[in-house]
Amino acid sequence: MQRIYLDHAATTPVLPEVLEAMLPYFSHEFGNASGVYSWSRTARQAVDQARDTVAEILGALAEEIVFTAGGSESDNLAIKGVAWANRERGRHIITSAIEHHAVLETCHWLEREGFEVTYLPVDSQGLVDPSAVEAALRPDTILVTIMHANNEVGTIQPIAEIGQIVKDSKAVFHTDAVQSAGVLDINVDRLHVDLLSLSAHKLYGPKGVGVLYVRKGTRISPLIHGGAHERRRRAGTENVPGIVGLAKALEITHAEREKENARLILLRDRLIEGLQTIPHTRVNGSLTQRLPNNVNVCFEFIEGESLLLTLDMRGVAASSGSACTSGSLEPSHVLLAMGLPHEIAHGSLRLTLGRGTTAADIDYVLAEIPQIVERLRAMSPLYRA
Ligand SMILES: *Cc1c(COP(=O)(O)O)cnc(C)c1O
Repeated sequence: MQRIYLDHAATTPVLPEVLEAMLPYFSHEFGNASGVYSWSRTARQAVDQARDTVAEILGALAEEIVFTAGGSESDNLAIKGVAWANRERGRHIITSAIEHHAVLETCHWLEREGFEVTYLPVDSQGLVDPSAVEAALRPDTILVTIMHANNEVGTIQPIAEIGQIVKDSKAVFHTDAVQSAGVLDINVDRLHVDLLSLSAHKLYGPKGVGVLYVRKGTRISPLIHGGAHERRRRAGTENVPGIVGLAKALEITHAEREKENARLILLRDRLIEGLQTIPHTRVNGSLTQRLPNNVNVCFEFIEGESLLLTLDMRGVAASSGSACTSGSLEPSHVLLAMGLPHEIAHGSLRLTLGRGTTAADIDYVLAEIPQIVERLRAMSPLYRA
């Protein structure tokens, strides 16, 4: 049986070049980057070089790059770090209803700690209105956090426009760019952001390593104390192989993104068009402001879970809602925020393409899915054709 991986928004395979760049730092170049002997110098140089590479792609200074243990940590550091460091100035935070759980749960926790959070609504395509951000800003707003591209429906937010608005206030602006890094322009000046999160394993690097960009002069408290690493913003012995792998993966995906995006957009649109021929199907998210690799559809009258299990039996890895919630029966908070009724939000399917996806893969799923949907509907008490 074929095995087709269409869940690149959940994680991606490590590229061979990335693995190769990492390998020496697991074995003979194992030094602690903070020591004084030659092993350490080699490790230190590798970390410095990785930091320069990441900084250049972001249009940032090397000292503005903080290596973390992934996207969730970067989001937590950005939000809790700014909240804690600025709590005497104000306690109001603005975010959106469709953020990743790493942002939303952090905001919920801060609410219990005495902060006030405004969750901006989105339109039916999943877009945040920049003028709603402007209207929500208050003198005590210390942070605005809006994701660059959504992990479930792929909607790309007008970050530069929102950044321009936040710039005129006293608040700092954070964006979760975990889904857009290596795909879209993530130049921090063009986006007008003060903080930006990214994660290696979403861009063909290793799991467990990420970056938080912190604009010079931004007040932020560390989450992890214990040493002078990362300019006292994140203690802990550096994950040298991970950091090297992250930089290599970002370098490759960023350099090749235009060509790869054009290829993926053709496959994506072919898949969307094919799925739309199934009756009672709706495409979720924007058709124009959309990640090149994201397909998200709802087939009315069926459960996303049963569809996923059947697809898995046919060798296709896909997702329903977000990976973090697909163990539960809760409908996606993103689809609900976009105004979909509960019963339809339950039937969503996310297919996210990647570097390994071929036209033959798309043909295979386009042959399988209509049959599966038809069979599941035939068993559904809700469906009357
Ligand atoms: C995956 C993801 C995260 C979490 O990143 P990890 O490195 O897995 O912790 C955060 N935000 C978005 C948008 C994501 O897709």
